[in-house]
Amino acid sequence: MKNYGIDIWGENNFKIDQGMIKVNYRSSPSLLEITQKIRKTNLSGPLILRFPHLIEKQIGLLYSNFQRAISENDYTGKFRAVFPLKVNQFPEAVDAVVEHGEKFGYGLEAGSKAELVLAMEKTPLGSPITVNGFKDEEMVRLGFIAAQMGHDITITIEGIGELEWIIDVAQQCDLKVPNIGIRIRLQSEGSGIWAKSSGLSAKFGLTSTELIEAMNMLQEHNMVQYFTMIHFHVGSQMQDISTLKRVLREAGNIYAELKKMGADTLNAINIGGGLAVEYSQHTANRLRNYTLEEFSNSVVFLLREIMNAKGVSHPNIFTESGRFVVASHSVLITPVLELFSHDYQEKSLKLKEQNPPLIEELRELNALLSPRTCIEYMHDALDHMESLLTLFNLGHIDLLDRSNAEILVHQIIKKSLYLSQDNLVPEIERLQVKLQERYLINSSIFQSIPDYWGLQQQFPIMPLDRLDVPAIRAASLWDITCDSDGEIRFKPETPLYLHDIDLDEEEYFLAFFNVGAYQETLGMNHNLFTHPSECTILINETGYEIENFTESDNVLNILEDIGYDSSKLLTNLKNKLVASDFSTEEEKSDTLQKLEMYLYQNGYLRTTR
Ligand SMILES: *Cc1c(COP(=O)(O)O)cnc(C)c1O
Repeated sequence: MKNYGIDIWGENNFKIDQGMIKVNYRSSPSLLEITQKIRKTNLSGPLILRFPHLIEKQIGLLYSNFQRAISENDYTGKFRAVFPLKVNQFPEAVDAVVEHGEKFGYGLEAGSKAELVLAMEKTPLGSPITVNGFKDEEMVRLGFIAAQMGHDITITIEGIGELEWIIDVAQQCDLKVPNIGIRIRLQSEGSGIWAKSSGLSAKFGLTSTELIEAMNMLQEHNMVQYFTMIHFHVGSQMQDISTLKRVLREAGNIYAELKKMGADTLNAINIGGGLAVEYSQHTANRLRNYTLEEFSNSVVFLLREIMNAKGVSHPNIFTESGRFVVASHSVLITPVLELFSHDYQEKSLKLKEQNPPLIEELRELNALLSPRTCIEYMHDALDHMESLLTLFNLGHIDLLDRSNAEILVHQIIKKSLYLSQDNLVPEIERLQVKLQERYLINSSIFQSIPDYWGLQQQFPIMPLDRLDVPAIRAASLWDITCDSDGEIRFKPETPLYLHDIDLDEEEYFLAFFNVGAYQETLGMNHNLFTHPSECTILINETGYEIENFTESDNVLNILEDIGYDSSKLLTNLKNKLVASDFSTEEEKSDTLQKLEMYLYQNGYLRTTR
């Protein structure tokens, strides 16, 4: 894996320069520099850095690609898009989406009451709002209120019952009626681990029989003029473009048929989300087989073909891709707290003036390793190790000799592993798994990358610096929860190598990329580790600004959030301490002060540096 696969997942958002990972934009600050600046305030624990310029970039790409495809294909419909709030509802993300989307008329999609309220407040008038997901009558009414405010809102019904509510509310009040969209249930299956949104057993959407019924109901109540959109969503992170083509053919034909049945104001196909993000660091297991260019061409071309064949004018194309828009904008930075098998470092060698001959030979092998010789030398080293152990058991060498031998053999194997990376033989693969180093990271996998835990979804991982030094340690990462699932295991098929670091001497930080979609609100407070500290980084030509810094919750707030009375808690703890025996008054007041300080600090581990 060269350069941690940045050419595969990086999209030129970041670059490696002078051994550091840098933001590839304007003044190109390094992530290490930003991290150290923020940590100067004594901050500990994980940190989310948001880069709104990457949201701006993704929105721009989405519109420019579709607009290009539209003009190249003489397509007469328009391209419109909304950001699905469920992908990231945090204010800094949503504000960046709204700010950078406004000039394109980029709107918001809501799937719950809280999201709808947010969409009503944030969406500029004139930009669209779409509403999906299960609704009750109250949510339908909220949609009417939004329409009354002047919003261009489309309520997508997931079932006939929701259409009945719309008809009822329209009859009961004089508010403006929102546009009506209908989610169609497609027979073509989605793909990937998220694909539960289409097919016979899908959770959402109307069957063809129900579609006909809905048309009849609309006509009967004189409301067919509000029916403007059909909608589908194949599931997130669509891996294969052929899935899209299959569902588009089905949806396109349904659209054309509905037009023929008298849906005169129907003018849009909403293709939902699903545009994939590349998370892979390894060429062999890429997670999507298409680019945005191919995606947009396929949508426009296919819809044009279907409509032309059926003599129907081209529909407007709506997308609700969310992952694609915000995944790249945030990076999780987490300090490494400990390397678990620190004992086999070269600096721990305590060689004697006179060493046993086999140890001298190991030293020589260690010094002379090269890509050509490493396998042979590694075999020699393993052989020597066996002889040395026999010598030890027979009492011919002492414990210091044995320790030196172990360190040297470990060094030789570690270096050989690295040198033979491009030429993996099964024996080396087995050794790699055995000799892996465990890196303890100051964050919670459950809180910060829950999809790793829940869906085995990978994220690109790399250290912030030392990128000009070979990383030779097969690495597995342990988080600080006391749950054995809080581990990112070393996998020989998709290996991660990190550096051998002496954490007493220096700091080491890991970055997790593409964590801006879904992870933040899916994250859970397992072990009461809460949302990481976060800030927004605005990069200009000469430097950068740090905005909206919010520290991770302090211990008292965490407990208060799940229902404890924090002032009572603090008082009780203090009383217990005051009632205990102290040798001096000074010690007592000092301890009280410390206790209070600990409770007002964030809940992550505090390292000395
Ligand atoms: C989740 C969802 C989306 C967003 O999907 P992405 O894969 O993030 O693009 C869009 N539309 C609907 C209806 C959804 O449920």
